[in-house]
Amino acid sequence: MKDQGNEHDTGMNLFFLTDPGDLSATLSSGGGLPDGFILGRCGSGSECGHMLRELRKGDETALLPVFLEDFPSDGDREAADGPARTKEEMENLAREIGNRLRDVDENALRKSLDLRLLAFLYSREGKKLRPVLDPLSRELYSYPLADHLSGGLLDSSRWISELLEKGYLEEESLADRIRACPKCGGAHLNYVDVCPFCRSMDIRQVPFIHCFTCGRVGPQEAFVREGPMQCPFCGARLRHIGSDYDRPMDNYLCSSCSQTFAEPDVSCRCFLCGAWSPADGLSVRSFREYSLSDKGVIAVRSGNTDDMYSVFDALNYTKPEPFRHILDWQLQLSGRPPVEPFSLMIISFPNVEKVKEKLGRKKVTEIMESLARRLRERIRKTDISTRTAENDLLLLLPKTGEKGCAVLASKVRELEKETLQPDGLVMEISVKTAVFPGDRVEGEDAVLLVARLKG
Ligand SMILES: [Zn+2]
Ligand SMILES: [Zn+2]
Ligand SMILES: [Zn+2]
Repeated sequence: MKDQGNEHDTGMNLFFLTDPGDLSATLSSGGGLPDGFILGRCGSGSECGHMLRELRKGDETALLPVFLEDFPSDGDREAADGPARTKEEMENLAREIGNRLRDVDENALRKSLDLRLLAFLYSREGKKLRPVLDPLSRELYSYPLADHLSGGLLDSSRWISELLEKGYLEEESLADRIRACPKCGGAHLNYVDVCPFCRSMDIRQVPFIHCFTCGRVGPQEAFVREGPMQCPFCGARLRHIGSDYDRPMDNYLCSSCSQTFAEPDVSCRCFLCGAWSPADGLSVRSFREYSLSDKGVIAVRSGNTDDMYSVFDALNYTKPEPFRHILDWQLQLSGRPPVEPFSLMIISFPNVEKVKEKLGRKKVTEIMESLARRLRERIRKTDISTRTAENDLLLLLPKTGEKGCAVLASKVRELEKETLQPDGLVMEISVKTAVFPGDRVEGEDAVLLVARLKG
């Protein structure tokens, strides 16, 4: 192990490693960690990749700067901090990363993978989560940085879309869109022309003849069996093209069932699981780049992604913006008879801060989780929810009139009893409702309506 930093007075300490053995020795020595690592060219590139993965999945080392002298793969490039360059450049970069990480609560980072991924983006200015193409992999694209940070524990695509849903990430440019097998998700597909009658792929294009006498069409080989050309259907002699017969567009002949047809079907066979799917039955997946959103920056700085209310996002959650559009649309419809009734419900927790002070954040999260579970049992698939910036829970209940709304509201209020703590404290649940068309106010839109209900 060579220590490159100490002789400088910059205070940055970058460890130079070429051997995975040295890495485990460093990590288990109990001594302090360096400010970053330079992974040197080693016998085989795979060792470099192995060391990078070990560092990125480590609780203590995940966010440390890592420079590579060699890039075993594009994935390693994405998960590292770039190539090794001059000592000064690497130290400057490592210092920048270290400074930004100073904003982040180390304890929270150790506990939350979400936060670790967000903090990684935060600590590298302009860093994005990028999909990387690996032509031999099942899904063709992967997100190596996310894969590395979770140590392969999480399905990175799902992980990223959850963080996007919660608003911590922002969509950036679209890298690619691929089609995949609906059965196994594999993106290695063979598109095969098949017979629309018997699905055989043993089809071929053959010249066809159109007999003017009887109007029938058939493969040319059936017309020229012996001597002069003759229609096999009506027996007419076909002497002159244009007056006795012509050639329609080439047609297909199926060798399996002998049917003829103008257009074959396209069917897709998955090279990985063997499943056949029609071309329009494939699943479509987009691979994008993602960057940290403003909400993500706040989460990193406050060390808090597990916002207590997020458990409610499992209740047919819709982002606030589309929710508002749907509500506006419903409100507009409610002005045009005949009107189908619908309701809006606002659920809030007025004493949540007080409960948190008394019982602690963890307990409050537990209470919220159990409330969310109970709510989930009570709402229908067609109900949608969103959360406002003030953490009110909004439920839009289509086809729900006065009676249905009142029943649900009283059931939700009853949940308050279930939050009773041994010391007599309860999580207060406030429920406000509006039922349409009865509560309609001319000219009122979604924003005004919510404000009016909140009083
Ligand atoms: Zn498949
Ligand atoms: Zn056929
Ligand atoms: Zn004929």
